[in-house]
Amino acid sequence: MIGLDPLFKRWTVPDRGALFVVSGPSGSGKTTLLREALRVIPGLEFSVSATTRAPRVGEVDGVDYHFVDHDKFRSLLADNALLEHAEVYGNYYGTPRAPVEAALAEGRSIVLDIDVQGAEQVRRSHTEAVSVFILPPSLVTIERRLRGRGLDDDSIVERRVREADEQLAAAGDYDFLVLNDDLDAAHGQLQSILVAELLRRSRRESWIQAARR
Ligand code: 5GP
Repeated sequence: MIGLDPLFKRWTVPDRGALFVVSGPSGSGKTTLLREALRVIPGLEFSVSATTRAPRVGEVDGVDYHFVDHDKFRSLLADNALLEHAEVYGNYYGTPRAPVEAALAEGRSIVLDIDVQGAEQVRRSHTEAVSVFILPPSLVTIERRLRGRGLDDDSIVERRVREADEQLAAAGDYDFLVLNDDLDAAHGQLQSILVAELLRRSRRESWIQAARR
């Protein structure tokens, strides 16, 4: 079985939600790890980013990303509708502000899958954000994984490996690390971090009150 026991399902929703920021270079396994964590940990929402990148095969508009053109992206920026934004691999990406603010105001938890530039902006605007960096075992592994998934041509893979190195340089700014040298272990690490954060006493005052009844 992957990750945590399903029993966690009954009690991982806190009184107060958390804002999670998860980064990791392409090929770090971040998407796979996050998808599973969102499936098994109840009450965690995924922040759907806006991007000017073209959809990949299988990606669904409004689910994986909001796929927008440059004009639309510029108007989101002009309207201050993005919590953070960055240019990554030649495309623009940004986190719609409203769903994040609404989740936090209503005590729900939300996960942002964003790059290191975006993470830095979120840390500045939301000091309570909890950040997790997914580390690949090595750049060599990243290159192998990117080629293996066969989604990008050679020049893009080479550029992504270079850019992965730049992302890794920012890993020291994160609260938590996950080392993805073994996928099952990495699932457990990421889910443990998220669950531990959701079990902070400050998010669980109601448990103490309930226990003293
Ligand atoms: P991909 O194009 O492979 O889906 O994502 C490329 C990179 O962009 C990933 O590192 C991903 O985390 C990052 N990214 C996705 N959405 C956002 C966003 O809204 N803001 C920022 N800053 N980065 C994002």
